[in-house]
Amino acid sequence: MSRSQLNRSKIANLGDDDTNCHILHLDMDAFYASVEVRRNPALAGKPVVVGGAEGRGVVVAATYEAREFGIHAAMPMSRAMRLCPTAIVVPADHRAYAEVSAQLYQILLSVTPYVETLALDEAFLDISGAIKLLGKPTEIAAKLRTEIKTQLNLTASVGVASNKFLAKLASTYAKPDGLLLIPEAAAVKFLHPLPVGALWGVGEKTEAKLQELGLNVIGDIANLPLATLTRIVGAASAEHLHNLCWGIDDREVIVSEPEKSIGNETTFGEDLFDPTEVEAQLLRLADQVAARLRSRELSSRTISIKIRFHDFTTITRSKTLTSYTHSTQEINQIARQLYRNLNLQRVRIRLLGVRAEGLQSTQLASFQPTLDEPDYGWSEAEQAVDQARAKFGERAIKPARLIAEPDEED
Ligand SMILES: [Mg+2]
Repeated sequence: MSRSQLNRSKIANLGDDDTNCHILHLDMDAFYASVEVRRNPALAGKPVVVGGAEGRGVVVAATYEAREFGIHAAMPMSRAMRLCPTAIVVPADHRAYAEVSAQLYQILLSVTPYVETLALDEAFLDISGAIKLLGKPTEIAAKLRTEIKTQLNLTASVGVASNKFLAKLASTYAKPDGLLLIPEAAAVKFLHPLPVGALWGVGEKTEAKLQELGLNVIGDIANLPLATLTRIVGAASAEHLHNLCWGIDDREVIVSEPEKSIGNETTFGEDLFDPTEVEAQLLRLADQVAARLRSRELSSRTISIKIRFHDFTTITRSKTLTSYTHSTQEINQIARQLYRNLNLQRVRIRLLGVRAEGLQSTQLASFQPTLDEPDYGWSEAEQAVDQARAKFGERAIKPARLIAEPDEED
């Protein structure tokens, strides 16, 4: 809470000149936990912890209500439960987070193609080219936040600044559900009172070392002679740190490489040996892969399956198509055919995977109807499924043949 108070006073002091502030850092607030609260509104306002509840489970995310008890990510779940015995523990659903992440990515791309993703819920944007069309940096940042709230019903915090270091710092101080601009001219004033740990690359160890020398805030380091700083942190870090202290950071936004493949696989609690069951699981995996392709607006030309047997031998088989697809039906047909071609007779299977490779953006991919499949029908049906899922959640709709659901790996 002290952070957001600090943040508010900073906003008041820093001014609103966003000239040259072409870098945004966007970070979803308590992302996994927020997705869980969105799915189950009864959790709203409660201390919710996402992670493994059993044995050596670890916290992967916590709502702000849970953080007030001192709970944070990477903490053993047992400790979290001691800190807040009433906390509600929800198992992580990485597939759901990946799907929301893909939707978020599309929203970011609607502003600029210059998006560098750092995590499922975090990205830098270089909006230089968007300013003419979409408005001032702070306006674009505000629009993005509104868009995310409207489309995803989730909150994001955004930092607006002249470089990556400052933008990332700004979003940290904007949290939760905030926007913070660090005007170029106010960067030094903003930075110098901050603890040295706020510098990019200063971890706990270096922070302790600096504090031992009485260097507690960024301003203390900024005014050290470079030679002195070099003796403390080494030549490689000294110049970098010195520059950061003065708000200088030349790193560019590096557009994230598109994904090379999308796959889902499952290890079964009990080995499968019934071909009907194997095919049902392949359908489930094909559906997941196809849904992820569609959510990223990607299509694939090569479909592969992976089978790990009881004795851990693992095989893969793949087929390259003449045209691209993101259809559940088509991916399932191929996966099933690859499986049938193996002609396995009641062998015990411990893992099954389906993967789509040779990815291309759907807009660019050339679609040709295949001989045995019309170019209409399934695609419309699948669009409807995706829309229903977006509206009612992942678990709303499954292909008809699916029954039991083992735990997921991805
Ligand atoms: Mg986040």
